[in-house]
Amino acid sequence: MALRMILTEGNPSLNKVSRPVTSFDDRLAVLLDDMKETMTHANGVGLAAPQVGILRRVVVVDLGEEIIELVNPRILEQSGEQDGPEGCLSVPERVGLVKRPNYVKLEAQDRHGDWYEYEGEELIARCFCHELEHLDGHLYTERAYQMMTQEEYEQMLKSQEEEEA
Ligand SMILES: [Zn+2]
Repeated sequence: MALRMILTEGNPSLNKVSRPVTSFDDRLAVLLDDMKETMTHANGVGLAAPQVGILRRVVVVDLGEEIIELVNPRILEQSGEQDGPEGCLSVPERVGLVKRPNYVKLEAQDRHGDWYEYEGEELIARCFCHELEHLDGHLYTERAYQMMTQEEYEQMLKSQEEEEA
């Protein structure tokens, strides 16, 4: 396994539409393993292949207990709404407020080509939406109704806590 370089905002690969995976071969397995290692090393909860410069429809998501592999993922159902902070390894030191569905169900293949369904709420649903958008060349910054620096976000949390106290 090896760490891959994470591309940051402004790199044209992040704005391109990724192609479906058609061969479930060793190269895909290496890519998935490298993406998992790269995401964990960077303390991320999700990573999409275009973020490491590979324009294929491949995503990894850390569910806490396990890291799942989403190859050619498609959203099947979504419902509800949540409103909250979001970050991205490709947009370092920034936080944005984004509205997302609160529940998302999707289907995706694993490294062998077998289809599975996954569902998640709150952070996981948010992460599914965020990562799938990377595959179509979109960053969450396009959707955020407010962008802040990490520092500004921490200040905002602090003042909210003080208001509640
Ligand atoms: Zn991202």
